Amino acid sequence: MQTLTILGSTGSIGASTLDVVARHPQRFSVFALTANRQHPRLAQQCLRHRPRYAVLRDAGAAEQLRQQLRDGGADTEVLCGEAGLQQVAAAAGVDMVMAAIVGAAGLKPTLAAVAAGKKVMLANKEALVMAGNLFMRAVEESGATLLPIDSEHNAIFQCLPRPFTGLEQAGVRKILLTGSGGPFRTTPLQQLDTVTPEQACAHPNWSMGRKISVDSATMMNKGLEFIEACRLFAARPAQIEVVVHPQSVIHSMVEYVDGSVLAQLGNPDMRTPIAHALAWPRRIEAGVASLDLIAQARLDFQAPDLQRFPCLRLAMAAARAGATAPALLNAANEVAVAAFLAGKLSFARIAAVIESVLEQVDTAEPRDLDVVQTADLQAREAARRAVGRWSSQ
Ligand code: NAD
Ligand code: MG
Repeated sequence: MQTLTILGSTGSIGASTLDVVARHPQRFSVFALTANRQHPRLAQQCLRHRPRYAVLRDAGAAEQLRQQLRDGGADTEVLCGEAGLQQVAAAAGVDMVMAAIVGAAGLKPTLAAVAAGKKVMLANKEALVMAGNLFMRAVEESGATLLPIDSEHNAIFQCLPRPFTGLEQAGVRKILLTGSGGPFRTTPLQQLDTVTPEQACAHPNWSMGRKISVDSATMMNKGLEFIEACRLFAARPAQIEVVVHPQSVIHSMVEYVDGSVLAQLGNPDMRTPIAHALAWPRRIEAGVASLDLIAQARLDFQAPDLQRFPCLRLAMAAARAGATAPALLNAANEVAVAAFLAGKLSFARIAAVIESVLEQVDTAEPRDLDVVQTADLQAREAARRAVGRWSSQ
């Protein structure tokens, strides 16, 4: 029996994780579930899965959850705040942690799980993008097992040999990172200025949280994933090629020096990479339908259009620049996307906000977490100023 903490259980990845876990009651038990402030949803999940702990970042919401659980007759203990998140990520009774908080807010709890040497299943790509080499160094030092949940990185992981000691040693020529191109792949460019959050969140293939949905529409998601792949597989930016593949059936590929290209395919359903990581190195049923290649009939591929998707261009440049550039990019993007979702910034200006932050804020060598967090704060400040300038025009 493996015990599991889910950081961000009320989100899209959290719910898919609980779906897979519920299919295997003999194999997994839930130690803790956490969320930001969605206490009704978390209460439902606690009554169903009976974790030892539930954590809400928000103290007021935690009080309401306590009441709801008392009324429901659950003896789950409710904690709150950053300390509560870190406690259930690192607790001695936990074997595995699903890191599925969205954004930089997930960094510290995820790092707590890493430092405690857990098996960490990483969905929270922003944490890795932001902290960079500090994150991977912490994994090495603690002996934690890091398994990628992002479908592309999970696919790459599956296409690489084990044990993996580096791309050169493995004979890898390049990584082919696939992406659907999102809902605006063919939208006339002049219409991109007036698209709404609802249009941006209507992804053709995947159902996801709102922030990553907007990231997919700008292709910043692929940019963050580009940086994520550099970190996870110790790849140089030149070793990664982004390929647009609208059907999202191939989740990424690895090309070897002998010309072999290995791909991982499947229906676009996050329960596949989640089940892969939960049971690794074994395989378990995930509730995912068989891939029907005959019905699928064709798979298409294109080069990414960096004119249409400036966020992807900015992210690839940040990957090449290194230092705290990815942290600045990520923080500016979080502010810009939140402003777009709040109706305060046009879709097309998301990239403009990020570009202006990258031009204004100096990068530094990310020696420790303080440097990273200062970069994050400076970028947020500069991004808010840029949003203020553009939203009043
Ligand atoms: P979501 O918005 O559906 O869920 C986010 C979760 O994080 C919720 O449980 C929320 O309560 C919690 N949360 C948000 N802010 C918080 C804060 N400040 N403190 C504590 N908890 C907080 O997002 P999602 O789509 O499930 O994505 C989660 C992560 O997984 C993201 O980093 C995303 O990029 C990554 N990811 C998601 C998918 C997908 O298919 N949804 C695929 C690949 C990677
Ligand atoms: Mg992905």
